[in-house]
Order: sequence, then structure tokens, then C-alpha cells
Amino acid sequence: MRDTDTHTIAPVLILLGPPGAGKGTQARMLEEKFGLVQLSTGDLLRAAVASGTEAGKQAKAVMEAGELVSDDIVIAILRDRLAEPDCARGVILDGFPRTTVQAQALDTLLAETGQKIDAAISLDVDDAAMVTRISGRYTCGTCGEGYHDTFKSPAIEGQCDKCKGTDFQRRADDNAETVAARLEAYHAQTAPLIDFYAKQSALMRVNAMGPIDDIAAKLGAIVKAATR
Ligand code: AMP
Repeated sequence: MRDTDTHTIAPVLILLGPPGAGKGTQARMLEEKFGLVQLSTGDLLRAAVASGTEAGKQAKAVMEAGELVSDDIVIAILRDRLAEPDCARGVILDGFPRTTVQAQALDTLLAETGQKIDAAISLDVDDAAMVTRISGRYTCGTCGEGYHDTFKSPAIEGQCDKCKGTDFQRRADDNAETVAARLEAYHAQTAPLIDFYAKQSALMRVNAMGPIDDIAAKLGAIVKAATR
């Protein structure tokens, strides 16, 4: 494990919300606009599974079942990633924390460099819409740009708008059965974090049911205020 007290990370923003709320899409847009680092524990875990690390081997079946990977594994992965130099310019956490234990671990980690969360932004959505949102989504296998069968197709069919890649991928856990388990895990284990951050006066709420660009504008205003 690397030493994290070599740099401060500013700002630290959290996107909270159930699977399908648009955390990944919005985090990518904020990354581009503000030069922050999008840090998705889901992406880090998928990379660990793909490269067959010990953590990846332990996480694989849990992820396929739509359940939460153990706090120890996820916290260790996040801690290592936060220690990398690029994170000093500020991070948007996408999919972390997902439990109170993870939220407390993050507070402790940041306190080592005298830091705090700048904002935890809850993307508020209707559960019923999430299954449709998730089951239609796919990404460019080359650059990671997100698309959706109904809401966002590439301008030229079969070709990524961003990088012109032609290899598209759907996540193995984006099927109706696993989505139900993921939503359940969200309500049981992650939703309590809304209160956790409200008590720290760090919570911001955004209605995330509208068009992607409208939500991006609302988030942009929050991030601008937080990065001032
Ligand atoms: P995501 O890409 O954020 O939807 O995450 C995909 C899957 O990775 C989740 O369903 C969990 O199994 C696992 N995962 C991602 N982030 C976390 C986390 N912070 N804590 C526990 N499990 C996680």
C-alpha cells in the first residue's frame, strides 16, 4: 500500500445515487469540464477482475450477483488509487462510498491530510425508471463513452462519437435480475449515506430525471461553487 499523505486532494466530490442514476455519465462530463479525476470503484473492480488480481478473483462472483464487494477490498483499492499523483487535482467519486463503513474510512483517509468532503451530491431518481435505463446502456470499448439504446445513440450508427471506435460493450451485470439486486443493495446499504452527509452539512440534492445536459448544468454549478 502506498503512502497517501504525500499530497492533498482538492476538491473531493461524491456522486451518490442508485445504479442507472447517471453517476458515470455525469462524472465523465465533470472530469472533462473541470479537469477532475473520475474515480469509479466499479471500473477499478472490473479492471481487477479482468486482470485476475487476488481482489478481482474475490470480487467477481459478488459483482455478478449484484451484491456489494467487501469494504476491505474496496477501501484498499480506493486508497491506492487516491495515492496516485493525478488525484491531487481533485476527484469525483462515482460509486464510492456505498456503505457507512466506507464513508467513515474515506473521512479518516482525508483527515490524514487535513481534508474533508467538499460535497456529496445525491442524484435523485425514480426507481421504476432505473431498470429501463440500465438495460439499454452500453459503452465504447475504446474510450468508455456511454450510450443508450433509447436515450443516446451514436450520431453515426456503430461508430463512437468521441473516438470513432467501433467496438461497443455491455456490462455483464446490466441484466434485469442483477439490476434488482443492485437496487436492493443501494436502498439497504447506500441510501443511509444521504443522512450521513446531511449531518456533515455536505449534502446537495439534484433531481436527476431530466435530460443529461440539464442535469450536467446543475452539477456544473455545484462543482463550480465547490472548486472556487
Ligand atoms: P458500478 O460500476 O458502480 O455500478 O459497480 C458495479 C459493481 O461493483 C457493484 O454492483 C458492486 O458489486 C461493485 N462495487 C462497486 N463499487 C463498490 C463499492 N464502493 N462497494 C462495494 N461494491 C462495489
